Amino acid sequence: MKRLAVLGHPVGHSRSPAMHNAALAALGLDDWHYEAIDIAPDRFEETVLEMAGGEFAGANVTVPHKGAALAVADSLSEVAREVGAANTLAFADGQVTAYNTDADGFLSSLPDAVDRSKALVLGAGGAARAVVWALVREGAGVEVWNRTGLRSENLCAELGGTPVSSPDAGGYELIVNATAVGLGGEDPFAELPLHAEDFNDGQIVVDLVYGSEPTALVAAAQAGGARTVDGIEVLVRQGAASFEVWTGREAPLAEMREAARA
Ligand code: NAP
Repeated sequence: MKRLAVLGHPVGHSRSPAMHNAALAALGLDDWHYEAIDIAPDRFEETVLEMAGGEFAGANVTVPHKGAALAVADSLSEVAREVGAANTLAFADGQVTAYNTDADGFLSSLPDAVDRSKALVLGAGGAARAVVWALVREGAGVEVWNRTGLRSENLCAELGGTPVSSPDAGGYELIVNATAVGLGGEDPFAELPLHAEDFNDGQIVVDLVYGSEPTALVAAAQAGGARTVDGIEVLVRQGAASFEVWTGREAPLAEMREAARA
């Protein structure tokens, strides 16, 4: 048996087990199994080392362990090192390699090239880091707003982009919500520098938050004519990239999407 898992705290809400088990079944990888494991931060390192020495082939890592996942690794992919966070671990011969598939997963979810786009990223946490890194690398003009301004200033100093305090959302071709706003039903138009009437048909709007679909942000963006990408699609894309790291097989996107949305 080859085991895979998502490690988080809490992790019970995760759609990754359903999504990855559907992918494994679709490819006939019957001796693989993916599960959710809740690990408190003080037990993260010892648990990963035990897993790497046992029958686990790899793991996804989610909040609050994405920084610790870098520290526990014997080697890092270039993306994980540059973003400063890992969401994927691969185990071989007791060694741990850390990857970040959030950045490329985000890019591959977009319906169009964004290399010349003016982009607004909302947030300065782990998800925003991957998004800003990816967009800067693509050549987009990236501006970053965060509730706590010091964090967006620090993020931009490290990864590129320009911090902004009062963005005019109607003027961006790409808007990405990488904050947690919406996760607990918060009103994005109360918490974020956005108005429902800002959206237009020249825009792509991405909401990394998923839960009840569509989120209030995605619904308003669609009503304004924008093309939208929801958090489930980004989840599927980062999951597909992780799946390919572990199995070496092309991920079955349609089956993963169907399971993640079920
Ligand atoms: P994080 O590191 O905890 O960062 C949270 C961010 O949200 C910070 O920028 C924080 O601002 C902001 N925030 C929280 N409450 C806010 C509020 N009421 N008003 C304004 N800003 C607020 O979390 P993360 O890992 O970056 O994740 C952020 C979101 O992305 C989560 O909802 C997560 O589920 C989602 N996500 C989705 C995917 C996917 O595949 N779809 C992948 C990764 C993450 P402050 O700095 O001011 O606290």
